[in-house]
This record gives sequence, structure tokens and C-alpha cells, in this order.
Amino acid sequence: MMRRLRDTLLPPACLGCDRPADDLAISLCGACARNLPPLPLCCPVCGDALPPQVSTCQACANCQKRKPAFARTIAALAYAPPVDDWIGALKYRGQLRHAGPLAGLLARAVASQPKPDLLIPVPLHDSKLRSRGFNQAIELTRPLARELELPWRHDLARRLRPTPPQQGQTATQRRRNLRGAFAAKDEIAGLHVAIVDDVMTTGATADALAQSLKKAGAAEVSAWVVARALRD
Ligand SMILES: [Zn+2]
Ligand SMILES: [Zn+2]
Repeated sequence: MMRRLRDTLLPPACLGCDRPADDLAISLCGACARNLPPLPLCCPVCGDALPPQVSTCQACANCQKRKPAFARTIAALAYAPPVDDWIGALKYRGQLRHAGPLAGLLARAVASQPKPDLLIPVPLHDSKLRSRGFNQAIELTRPLARELELPWRHDLARRLRPTPPQQGQTATQRRRNLRGAFAAKDEIAGLHVAIVDDVMTTGATADALAQSLKKAGAAEVSAWVVARALRD
């Protein structure tokens, strides 16, 4: 109630332009909300853009060749300006106030989806958590779970080793680097779990985590991300 009172008296600033926000759940003014980077027609499994000649929703060539361990990807937006900057501010500049609005955008994207039993933020390795001081996936999952009234746990999956920088690596190399990088507890057995992260780039991280969740008995895994990096 105090937060609502404060927001009424002092509307939060728009993430995009610092004018007063019109939509408080996502902290955006009307103009910035209308200019968010939309997603083109995407593969329902991995969330990547389908080639322009494809006009119906279908699994992309990669997913037809090799299905990831997660069943579907829901992304709120494309990983493009200005969303990439907002996520960067959260992740690299510790602007934790960005987490609520970004979670609000994700909450809208998943509103029509079947509700999972449990949300699990993608874990960071302990060394990364120590240097960053927080896990952006947890910061996003907390308000998301509150908004959707879903349970969440950060202690049921662990990252066993740090991942080498993935930039410039092929999808196969990324998969190899991540093999066995996560472990999950069998408390998730039989559940539909949605894993939550800020960005999906190739889906290799989500795939590795989903594999460990499946190994621990998860019935189904969905990937929920604020933004999806799309092929050119
Ligand atoms: Zn604005
Ligand atoms: Zn795909």
C-alpha cells in the first residue's frame, strides 16, 4: 500500500526517457511503450526469428534437427535498443530498479500461457554471484512470481562451474562448454518448471539447465526471458 501511495504521489520515471511513467507496472511513458522492439514471427520452441520466407508459426530448422530440452520459449521483446540497454543497466550497472518493470513486461508476455508449477531463475555460478553481488534472474523472478502468484525457488538448481565467455562461439561449442554445467534437485520431479532469465542468445544455457531439470524428473520445462537475441 505504501508503494502504491508513493507511486501516486511521485510517479516513477520512465525507463526510456525519464518523463513520468504512464504505465506504472512497466515504468514506461506512452511513447516509449509504443516504441518497444517487437518480435517478428518466431520459432515457438527456441524463440529465434524464422526466415522471412516462412509465414506460419513452426519450429525452426535448428529445432527440427535437434530439439532442445525445453518445450517452448516465451520472450517479451527482441534484444534490441532500448531494451538491451535497460537489461545492461540491471546486469552490469546494478540498476535493480529496472527489474520490476522488465518483469512486468515478461508477465504480460506469458499471461496467455499455461501456468507452470514453479519458476526457477537461471542460476549463476558462485564466483559470478560474488563478483556481481546479485543474480539478475532472481531479481526478475521475484516480482514476476509475485505478479503471477506462482511459487519460485532459487535453491533447486545450481551452476556447478563457471562458463567460459560464450561470445564468438558456435552453437555446438556453446553446448559443449555447458554440458553438465547445472545440477537440479529431485524436488522438481513431475513439475512443469519455467526457467526465467534476462536474455536468451542461442538457447544453449537454457538447454543445459533444462536438461538437468529433466534429469531430476521435471515433467516439462518452459523458457521465459525478457528479451530474445534474434538472428540477423
Ligand atoms: Zn518514456
Ligand atoms: Zn527453434
